Amino acid sequence: MNISIGILSLQGDFPKHEEAFRRLEVRTRQVRTEGDLDGLSGLVIPGGESTTLSRLLIPAFAGTPDSIGGFAERLRDFATAHPVWGTCAGMILLCKDAGDARVTCLGLLDAEVIRNGYGGQVHSFETDLAIPSLNEKVKPFRAVFIRAPRVTKVGPDVEVLARLDDPRFHGEPVMLRRGNLLATSFHPELTDDLRVQQYFLEMF
Ligand code: GLN
Repeated sequence: MNISIGILSLQGDFPKHEEAFRRLEVRTRQVRTEGDLDGLSGLVIPGGESTTLSRLLIPAFAGTPDSIGGFAERLRDFATAHPVWGTCAGMILLCKDAGDARVTCLGLLDAEVIRNGYGGQVHSFETDLAIPSLNEKVKPFRAVFIRAPRVTKVGPDVEVLARLDDPRFHGEPVMLRRGNLLATSFHPELTDDLRVQQYFLEMF
């Protein structure tokens, strides 16, 4: 595929995303500055810490809620015209609100989350998801949740591609799509199953 995908590489598990796309023979580029976005076909915002990512993306005292300024503003512009996929902390940044003053959401995806909504590190879990858009008849998708955001509100234009089947959290959304934006509260890059990456590639 003749595209080049940027991987936001300020913090978090960006090498795992690079590795997954390498296996699919898709070119990637680490994005560390605004200029690194030039010429890219799309972008992945990896998991990590949304608080830290916010601090790195938004210069102190810059901007207002309408104009957050800096690298974040450039990312927002990029995401209006290119496919962007956020995993876990990346999902938090794409959403409208995370209920935490230390996090600056980009407000691109009409959804709200609670950070660490399924508990802390010791409550991390794996579960099978039925994801109709991923040819689930082959097998369910084994999803890894690590201090994942819990989706509490989804706007009418946002498509829910997967929900939890766990009795404790039954029916809660974990994979969202709106146009060129994709968000997963789990980490497909930590498994050998490349179907979410393939789904993302079909958005180009
Ligand atoms: N809990 C983290 C946050 O708030 C996200 C964890 C992750 O990306 N695995 O940013």
